[in-house]
Amino acid sequence: MPQITGIRLLLPSCSPARPLSASANLFRFSFASSLGCRFSLATQRPRQSLSIFSSSSSFDWRGRRPGNFLPQRRRSSSDGDLARERRESKGSTEMELEGATFNRKRAEGRDRSAKPRNLQLKVRKLNPVSTICYAQILGTGMDTQDTSPSVLLFFDKQRFIFNAGEGLQRFCTEHKIKLSKIDHMFLTRVCSETAGGLPGLLLTLAGIGEEGMSVNIWGPSDFKYFVEAMRSFIPNAAMVHTHSFGGTTDDNRADSSNSGAVRSLTNPIVLIDDEVVKISAILLHPSFSGECADKMDVANIANSDNLDLQSKARSSLKPGDIAVIYACELSEIKGKFDPLKAQALGLKPGPKYRELQLGKSVKSDRLDIMIHPSDVLDPSIPGPIVLLVDCPSEAYLQELLSLQSLNPYYTNFMDQSNEESKSVNCVIHLGPASVTKTAQYRSWMKRFAGAQHIMAGHEIKNIQIPILRSSARITSRLNYLCPRLFPTQGFWSVQHPSSFLQDSNASTEDSSPIVCETISAENLLKFHLRPYSQLGLDRSVIPSSLTAEGIVDELISEIPEITDASRIVSQLWCGSGDSMHRSSANDNMIEEPWMTENAVMSDSCKMSQQRVISEGIHVDHDSDVPSCLEDITREDMEIVLLGTGSSQPSKYRNVSSVYVNLFSRGSLLLDCGEGTLGQLKRRFGMKDADDAVKALNFIWISHIHADHHTGLARILALRAELLKGVPHEPVLVIGPRLLKRFLDAYSRLEDLDMQFLDCRYTTAASFDAVAGSLGLGGNTPELGKNNNKLDGAGRVENTLFSKGSRMESCWKRPASPVDTATMVPLLAKLKRVLHRAGLDALFSVPVVHCPQAFGVVVKAAERTNRVGKTIPGWKMVYSGDTRPCQAIVDASRDATVLIHEATFEDGLEEEALARNHSTTMEAVNVGTSAGAYRIILTHFSQRYPKIPVFDEKHMKNTCIGFDMMSVNVADLSVLPRVLPYIRLLFKNEMALDESEEALVAAAN
Ligand SMILES: [Zn+2]
Ligand SMILES: [Zn+2]
Repeated sequence: MPQITGIRLLLPSCSPARPLSASANLFRFSFASSLGCRFSLATQRPRQSLSIFSSSSSFDWRGRRPGNFLPQRRRSSSDGDLARERRESKGSTEMELEGATFNRKRAEGRDRSAKPRNLQLKVRKLNPVSTICYAQILGTGMDTQDTSPSVLLFFDKQRFIFNAGEGLQRFCTEHKIKLSKIDHMFLTRVCSETAGGLPGLLLTLAGIGEEGMSVNIWGPSDFKYFVEAMRSFIPNAAMVHTHSFGGTTDDNRADSSNSGAVRSLTNPIVLIDDEVVKISAILLHPSFSGECADKMDVANIANSDNLDLQSKARSSLKPGDIAVIYACELSEIKGKFDPLKAQALGLKPGPKYRELQLGKSVKSDRLDIMIHPSDVLDPSIPGPIVLLVDCPSEAYLQELLSLQSLNPYYTNFMDQSNEESKSVNCVIHLGPASVTKTAQYRSWMKRFAGAQHIMAGHEIKNIQIPILRSSARITSRLNYLCPRLFPTQGFWSVQHPSSFLQDSNASTEDSSPIVCETISAENLLKFHLRPYSQLGLDRSVIPSSLTAEGIVDELISEIPEITDASRIVSQLWCGSGDSMHRSSANDNMIEEPWMTENAVMSDSCKMSQQRVISEGIHVDHDSDVPSCLEDITREDMEIVLLGTGSSQPSKYRNVSSVYVNLFSRGSLLLDCGEGTLGQLKRRFGMKDADDAVKALNFIWISHIHADHHTGLARILALRAELLKGVPHEPVLVIGPRLLKRFLDAYSRLEDLDMQFLDCRYTTAASFDAVAGSLGLGGNTPELGKNNNKLDGAGRVENTLFSKGSRMESCWKRPASPVDTATMVPLLAKLKRVLHRAGLDALFSVPVVHCPQAFGVVVKAAERTNRVGKTIPGWKMVYSGDTRPCQAIVDASRDATVLIHEATFEDGLEEEALARNHSTTMEAVNVGTSAGAYRIILTHFSQRYPKIPVFDEKHMKNTCIGFDMMSVNVADLSVLPRVLPYIRLLFKNEMALDESEEALVAAAN
């Protein structure tokens, strides 16, 4: 019998009668805190904020107050205002049901309700006859090839999605696919490539509406490991509807004598069977590696009756090895009842009509005959069938070719089991081209005569078309304005050497004559299933092509002054470049050319800029260039902002990740939100992004909120894959303790090839007290020292949070004494890794956000210049998520660059306080009071879709971060002066946005 296991994970704290154990309490807190950026429970809310949110109606949706810093453009369109008012007056529920695009209410912190959420599944009334139905390719990862594409099976009243790789949520936001309407999700495999987007998605759904939403998620047995891993940071309540099916790889191991269980794995497992559709799963296993593979011929095993041999072979399976073929069979539509025919056969109108319609034969009233349904009903229309086939590698081919459960779907199949032969209308192939272009696979495809084949696996030609058009558009515009800071256009061509992809079969087109209809998938391509008259392909919603040149042309016609701005910006670099240190005689020549509200350059500003151009005057007017930048080269360090948004990925900003390129000395990653790999590919191209992943010295994670670490597994799994067979060390992951739980659980599914080091052991105090005494000293102990000391038991004692506060108790809770036996080798390794990377020190700094939240200080080693002078190393500080705090001020003392979160605009201090974030001004103040040379702001609330609101008066040393912005250490002096021009780029922002929205509204 097929096994269906529902993993029901109900939160014990839901029943108030039951006392919570200490650990349950801790978990409940981490539950709340893990949703801190998402949705929150009342327990987490500081007392003083209660009044703020209960009186939120006195604010408008931006929390705007009269005379605040909103730029003119917000009011540029009266139509837009109307549209917004309409939106606001619709009430929260409807607004949020419009899709998981952006939960404004949550982002504003107005979603806190005291009562626990229910996270109900949707109940729908189904109608098989009049529904519209199609399968649609959601080309997530089609351009970057970092995730598997998803497929949407759409019905009026039900929606199913197959696979949820990283970025699915962002993709759906972009293309107005309403995730809130999805009922079931299915995984073709359980790995980061196909399921990496799931954690973020569950959290988003849980945050929708008053009660939150949930979705049924189905995966092969190994899905339980994935669920287990997610439990370390996702509340159980958000995952109640996860189901795994089929025997587990463990079962195979433990129970290899139970041959019946093994056989059952080859039967289709029916998952959904309602009036409209039946969805069943057929499991697919790889050929067995290692010694098994040498001894056994898999095809023969699968066909043989030697069940013992089968089970032995299966026992070598690893979790994550199982792939699933899904068969979606729409129910047939019964033919119409013809009363004239019934009359002619001597039947009176009455209950017998209904019997016939229900498929039963009845006796005629007037004649002595039996009347059968076929006598009075028009012929029924068979339900269309779609198959989704994920054959991830050639190792699965043999079993695919011999799977008996596929027999009914093949044309000309000799029916031996009395099962009806089924006619498949469409087969969507999710496997990579390297598999689907093999002769074996092609000939297997021919078994489905008459079916439309859609090849949706990765193909090199797809990389030219950006999937996230909105962000590609902004990237292109920024690139036009300032290619130094924005080196990528958001597009690349196949010819580009850095985007060369290893695709061994891409050039060898199938030489055998193609019998079946085969088409390459395109993003949003549909295959219609109902109504029957429309059966077939539909390309009408495939996005029109978009080119970087087109976007620039559009920009120039929209903002003509941008061409001058671009020229002026390029002139800013005259005074920088490889040699930073120069006189600043012309300082007074250029005022900061801040734009006015209307972003029109003042005449004096224009004049001075024209002088810059005509006279070629160096504009480097920094007299305060820190000595560490002396003679710095462009191959020293570059900060690449991969994600600059908070909470959840949005159209324009991905979630947190900072890639620090140390060039020949490797690289580091500070935070790794969902989609980090995709962003790396967008920044560096296919191949170079892989190299960037291979070059990682370490990954540092600030805290356990989903917007900071859910891209980690994908990066680690890819790195392990890329370095297979190459001598290397496991990568060091430095993060909060809870992250280890996630990584340990996840490693059962995929090889992550890493070593974990708790952030707490990398604080200055910890280094000082433990590593120092064990001969690992050499770090600069003054950093952050005043925050923590080790107590007698070897615990780091907190002096940062107020005594008795929840934060403090969580900080102290890990009472396990420092395990020096494990820690010292890891710290020694860190030391080695730092040295190799040309770094002198790394410290984690406890910050004020959630339990175990950290900032980080990275300091470069000193160097010697051409004339033998010793030059100090640069110092970079990243705040993670935090309130402005003394710990970061102390840590940022004389920093070369401080990357600080600035979730909210000025004026929203109370909100920032309530949610443990910072406002723009607060972030700038931290940097200024620490004497940081440059400040880069990031982690903007998604309420600021393109550019956050800021007050230019205070931005003298500061720049706003954008996704893909690449700040070379050699460009730091110029950095703040580019900001006004960037602002110019967004002067029409609101008008554009609203016209987009109008279009979308019309399309729906
Ligand atoms: Zn965050
Ligand atoms: Zn956070």
